[in-house]
Amino acid sequence: MNFSSKILEEAVSQVSQLPGIGKRTALRLVLHLMRQPEQNTDLLTDALLKMRHDLQFCKQCHNVSDTDLCEICASHNRDETIVCVVEDIRDVMAIENTSQYRGLYHVLGGKISPMDGVGPQDLKVASLVTRVKEQGVKEIIFALSPTIEGDTTNFYIFKQLGDLEVNTSTIARGIAVGDELEFADEVTLGRSILHRVPYENSVKN
Ligand SMILES: [Zn+2]
Repeated sequence: MNFSSKILEEAVSQVSQLPGIGKRTALRLVLHLMRQPEQNTDLLTDALLKMRHDLQFCKQCHNVSDTDLCEICASHNRDETIVCVVEDIRDVMAIENTSQYRGLYHVLGGKISPMDGVGPQDLKVASLVTRVKEQGVKEIIFALSPTIEGDTTNFYIFKQLGDLEVNTSTIARGIAVGDELEFADEVTLGRSILHRVPYENSVKN
């Protein structure tokens, strides 16, 4: 791509560093910004700088937060005895969007994956065990992806909890709502049969 301006070239080059954004798309975005009032670009760059410099992680659950303790941990309307263990903050957002869960979270920051060089020490496991020991947590819900890495991580944490008095559960795995049985893969269908629920429960929800 030939630019007649080094400044424009640099802007396009920086934007194209973002995932999924090629040089052409970057150029389109930069030209769009050029056509907008200057203030719009200021707002964008200010928001990005603020995100970079001021965003914190909750000291209890490691969710993103503007303060020491995130809004969920600080809320008085949450059940502090239940902690849902998730891989990253997107999972917190996804579960919060369901409006079905009133407990707290614990964001691990990944899952154990030797192939990617991620070991248990890279995850926030120790602080989870401390929470169980010191904060009266009664139940841990494992909500990691149903993959080998997710299962490995669940099992590692389960072992770390040792004989602490805490109930552990995993989110149900099965047929997605609206799916036709014949199109479900064998593993999912098999698990759905193994982890069947009393009919009463399915009616209540
Ligand atoms: Zn928190």
